Amino acid sequence: MAKFADTRDKSILPVDGKNLVLFHPHVPENAIDEIADTLKTRWIGQGPKVDRFETEFRDWLGSKHHPIAVGSCTDAMHLAYVLAGVQPGDEVIVPVFTCTATSIPLLYHGVKIRFADAQAGTMNIDPGHVRSLVTEKTKAIVCVHYGGLPCDMDELQAIADECGVPLIEDAAQAVGASYRGRPVGGMSDFTAFSFQAIKHITTGDGGMLMLRDPELVDKAQRIRWFGIDRKAKQGGTWANDIYEVGYKYQMTDIGAAMGLAALKTIDQSLDQRKAILATYIDGLAGIDGLEVVGANSNDRVHAAWLCTVLVDRRQDLERKLRDARIESGQVHFRNDRYSVFAPFREGELPNMNAMENRYLVLPLHTHMDVDDAKRVCDVIKSGW
Ligand SMILES: *Cc1c(COP(=O)(O)O)cnc(C)c1O
Repeated sequence: MAKFADTRDKSILPVDGKNLVLFHPHVPENAIDEIADTLKTRWIGQGPKVDRFETEFRDWLGSKHHPIAVGSCTDAMHLAYVLAGVQPGDEVIVPVFTCTATSIPLLYHGVKIRFADAQAGTMNIDPGHVRSLVTEKTKAIVCVHYGGLPCDMDELQAIADECGVPLIEDAAQAVGASYRGRPVGGMSDFTAFSFQAIKHITTGDGGMLMLRDPELVDKAQRIRWFGIDRKAKQGGTWANDIYEVGYKYQMTDIGAAMGLAALKTIDQSLDQRKAILATYIDGLAGIDGLEVVGANSNDRVHAAWLCTVLVDRRQDLERKLRDARIESGQVHFRNDRYSVFAPFREGELPNMNAMENRYLVLPLHTHMDVDDAKRVCDVIKSGW
């Protein structure tokens, strides 16, 4: 396997008012008051604000599924795998191109990972390849809405239904996305969101698992907290046995305070992100040797977390942007390149092979505006 590209000239640029950085956390002003308010109460760990954040987030999504707030999206993915009942030797189909957090929790359970190829044009999981990977051992199918663009949900759900296995969405990048009129977080059996530092909403670190099946809610709440039924315990009884393996995956009220504050302005920050992405799509149209990933999907709403382009001579463009004080980068790498996933390398992934040296992520966050995006477009248009 090839080594990773040399990254010595890719150290991050400082925030100095002139550099345009790739990511910048979005922390709304009102988060400071919400946190201060929390710090003065009895509850700074998991308390009433976590409950409120679960309800308000679900209502904002417009979903009827059941929210379970956790410490990260990785926690949410792990809980989804446990709730799906994965066992050693089971096979789970996951996209090869994603954040490692999607697949790492499968290693905790000795699951055999089957990497599915990326789709040309979107870099999302390719349903055609997913179908070819299905076997009798398939226990779940995982998809990731790369950059915020929903995957081909109808096709993926149809395959999952035919196999009788759950579809698990890693929606870390897709807060506010929708597919054919349905919100991400209100469609499949399990959807995991991230509230990590640079995601749409940040709680410092945090996540949310949305469950379709109400019967799983009690178990999810227990295994989020060691396997203890917290409500029963708070009722004063010590007769609550622990009979299943749990984890310590709860969200804190400090985090939930940030989340509640962010929900008050999430519509505006999403609009800002979408306007920046639209500026890129518009400004970069028709350039030879360059294509914006996921620019042509009309039946789904893009949550505009990333703007990724596929370009010839990527390193040259990256250097040119950097000379213009614009940060860019790959952000994610095909997972089968990591040594920890080496046992799961198999076959050819032709789309990923064709894209792996061509993708580049451009700055997109709420500390920039459409004029910054226009400047990036102008630099790119001047050639690289
Ligand atoms: C950010 C991200 C994660 C990890 O989220 P955490 O909240 O940091 O665990 C998982 N999957 C994808 C696709 C991500 O972008």
